[in-house]
Amino acid sequence: MSETFRALMIVDHEGKPKAEFRELTLAELPDHDVLVEIAFSTLNYKDGLAVSGKGRIARRLPMVAGVDIAGTVVESRSPEWKAGDKVVVNGWGLSETEWGGYSRFQRVKPEWLVRLPDEFSFEQAMAIGTAGYTAALCVNALEAWGMIKPGGREVLVTGAAGGVGSTSVSLLASKGYSVTASTGRPETHDYLAGLGASAFIDRAELAEKGGALQKERWAGAVDSVGSTTLVNVLAQTVYGGAVAACGLAGGADLPGTVMPHILRGVALLGVDSVMAPRAKREAAWATLVAHLDKKQLEAMTTVAPLSDLPRLATEILAGRVRGRVVIDVS
Ligand code: NDP
Repeated sequence: MSETFRALMIVDHEGKPKAEFRELTLAELPDHDVLVEIAFSTLNYKDGLAVSGKGRIARRLPMVAGVDIAGTVVESRSPEWKAGDKVVVNGWGLSETEWGGYSRFQRVKPEWLVRLPDEFSFEQAMAIGTAGYTAALCVNALEAWGMIKPGGREVLVTGAAGGVGSTSVSLLASKGYSVTASTGRPETHDYLAGLGASAFIDRAELAEKGGALQKERWAGAVDSVGSTTLVNVLAQTVYGGAVAACGLAGGADLPGTVMPHILRGVALLGVDSVMAPRAKREAAWATLVAHLDKKQLEAMTTVAPLSDLPRLATEILAGRVRGRVVIDVS
């Protein structure tokens, strides 16, 4: 095939990373074993950092950005995959050290692929994307810890109107947990109530420095914000509860004390999606298949073309994207 196709690449511009659309050929793709024709990718916070150049996500340049892929195998040198297989890739260093999903075609390693669940279309799988799959990892981590109970004490979701947050609210509510959503955007309350949130807390309340141990409120929490917010959430978590921490939308620092951990046995469960082993990924996708309401998924999703990415990257970093954005790479 000699045809060219468009990709969004991060290139070196006078020593700084800069996003640029380029025409590629198959011959220019990395020499990995599986060639995938990509149907859709997505926009995650990390993609915003990469495309805007505000975060040094790409560790080598030029780099095709995009941490998510949903598409069809075209060629495979691996016995595990064959032409026609429908697949998903989330993470594995895409957009950091490996070329990613903002391209019509990509070559990837066989061990990165997960079979697209029959229950989801490509578009739905990317409406989920890394953000949604991370939400499922967080929910699974909290359930494995064992302190949250359907109909029991509140489970908090911070950054609730974002991608990880929206999917977490939806999953937790559909499993019967009592979900409190923390958001800085009161105008999203109806949307979040539609996803199943039953109470709200303004994100400003969690952003101010508080005591080392505060009134116990949360049986568990999914935190995509980090910094003082995460410290306060830990300080408000009930005896024996747990917080699944996956994000840094409010900052990468953790200016707190050990008190919640050593006096209340509160657990800080770190959640990483990028290098998560396949078993955890499959368990996360199984949670999504069983518990993610498709109508709610649709309500949290917008679709945008590749050409919108530079604008959308700025929007997501400014906290102005609601829910999830699917990127049509065609
Ligand atoms: P989004 O931008 O969609 O969501 C982040 C949300 O956080 C925003 O919608 C906003 O919610 C809130 N927020 C934004 N800025 C601030 C701020 N300054 N202070 C407090 N809250 C803020 O991003 P994603 O959902 O894609 O990702 C969320 C976080 O999780 C990111 O930090 C991302 O890097 C991380 N992440 C980590 C993964 C991992 O593997 N560990 C995988 C995926 C994501 P609201 O308006 O409701 O307040």
